[in-house]
Amino acid sequence: MNKNVTLTIDGKRTTVPEGATLLDAAVQCGADVPTICYHEHCTSYGLCRLCVVEVEGQRVLAAACVAKAQADMTVSTASERVIRARRTILEMLDSAVDLSEAPEIEDQLNDYKADRERFSEGWERECEVVDDNPMFIRDYSQCILCWRCVQVCADDAQYAFAINFSGRGHETSISTFYDQQLTLSTCVFCGQCVGVCPTGALKPKREWLLETGHEQDEIIKLTQAKRRKKKRRQERPYQTG
Ligand code: SF4
Repeated sequence: MNKNVTLTIDGKRTTVPEGATLLDAAVQCGADVPTICYHEHCTSYGLCRLCVVEVEGQRVLAAACVAKAQADMTVSTASERVIRARRTILEMLDSAVDLSEAPEIEDQLNDYKADRERFSEGWERECEVVDDNPMFIRDYSQCILCWRCVQVCADDAQYAFAINFSGRGHETSISTFYDQQLTLSTCVFCGQCVGVCPTGALKPKREWLLETGHEQDEIIKLTQAKRRKKKRRQERPYQTG
């Protein structure tokens, strides 16, 4: 038999099924809890911490996307401490990553009155655009390490396991095994990673070519030339030595 738990969120009593997260309970109560790494079709890991809430009696703020609702909890989704923590998270993100193509995060920066100069002396991620396949480009200077692409590539959807975290600390990035080009990895070019990416870090190749000033005709010619080259390569007799 399914059990329920009743708790208080922002002063409102609410009942959710056992196992529901604080984010589920907050949404049910109509509270506006911001998220970035959370995606309704991906497993939550509480990586970005933007959804933090304050639980009475707990020392640290809880990531609402992973913390389970428990009976008689008293939760605040918008206390001063919560707002300050979210603002700092956004300011740090803004200092390190190019968010110019992440409109939702740009909105959150405004909503939380983030000081975009606060960490302006900080280290900023700068990466070359990776253009190693015909389907999409990867610009990790816009990557916020939300891990959604890794999850859909792995056991949340595709089971291809082509990408994962690589490096540590500031050097952490998303990469293929041994940093090989995607065409040499287990990637099947399903495009699900592009679909869940909340920034412009992953983008269809055609969109990127248009944005970088290529004309439609030029893109079609480029594509046709690549197809011809591929066909020639496939027809080439096998050579030894
Ligand atoms: S590439 Fe996109 S989806 Fe993948 S971790 Fe970076 S921001 Fe998230």
